[in-house]
Amino acid sequence: MTDTLQKFMFENTAVRGELVDVSETWKHVQARREYPAAVKTILGEMLSAAALLSANLKFNGAIVMQIHGDGPLRLLVVECDSDLNMRATAKLSDTAVIADDATLPQLVNQNGGGRFVITLDPKDKLPGQQAYQGIVPLDGESVATVIENYMMRSEQLDTRLWLAADAHVSRGLLLQKLPGEGGIKSASGEEMEPWDRSVMLASTLRTEELLSTDIETVMRRLFWEEDIRIFDPKHPNFLCTCTREKVGSMLKMLGQAEVDSALEEMGKLAIDCDFCGQHYEFDPVDCAQLFVSEAPVETLIPASPIKH
Ligand SMILES: [Zn+2]
Repeated sequence: MTDTLQKFMFENTAVRGELVDVSETWKHVQARREYPAAVKTILGEMLSAAALLSANLKFNGAIVMQIHGDGPLRLLVVECDSDLNMRATAKLSDTAVIADDATLPQLVNQNGGGRFVITLDPKDKLPGQQAYQGIVPLDGESVATVIENYMMRSEQLDTRLWLAADAHVSRGLLLQKLPGEGGIKSASGEEMEPWDRSVMLASTLRTEELLSTDIETVMRRLFWEEDIRIFDPKHPNFLCTCTREKVGSMLKMLGQAEVDSALEEMGKLAIDCDFCGQHYEFDPVDCAQLFVSEAPVETLIPASPIKH
């Protein structure tokens, strides 16, 4: 079983679409973590959404989608790069009690403090080039509406999403009206605009149906009457980019005093990757090396605003 991202166009219209199934990737995301059912739905839906939006990437890099919550769910993060390598994680508050039917606003926007953040992070940055980051208040009752509202406000793109996820499945459908082109009306003017027609057809898709039906069948059921051009499928998969070096740099950022006091308390530092569960250990010798090697590095590389 491999995951699939299927792009398509409605012929002779300015409407493009994508169907995605990232259920295998979703299994890897959950492999070392047990999330409450309501969190599975939201994180699973974000996983499909990130794969669908990665097609908007016009560069070699990654899209990072985050929801910062002010309720029992503190943070959701999903990353997808241009090769469709994906990873995702969620952080709950220590005291979180989450009902199975908890909604997105209940989980992350209890006091209106929730934020939706999209970062477009180029892989090989030019000197001085920064990642692009859009931060907006959480506007919407579901992951799909939050993203639709963001795409309309920030990108001026008419986008519609249908997302579905549970413990085993993560699937999604995206429709997007390409910018700069209006709808094509028939000579009589009676026929529905292609965008409205495609959205109407897609809106017959129920969440249960998307959960229980493979995307090829979904495509056939929804659009069997339409003239559709289908592109070569792509295959998303799970890949974590954590390394011992990156964990080491994180410890260096904490500072020697902080690290020394943690070592004194625990003897060695044990860090598990939030995305893949990979276990890293730093004993006092490893930690000492981190701070010894800092001096020459600093003299070689002048302080610069480039973020890594
Ligand atoms: Zn990792």
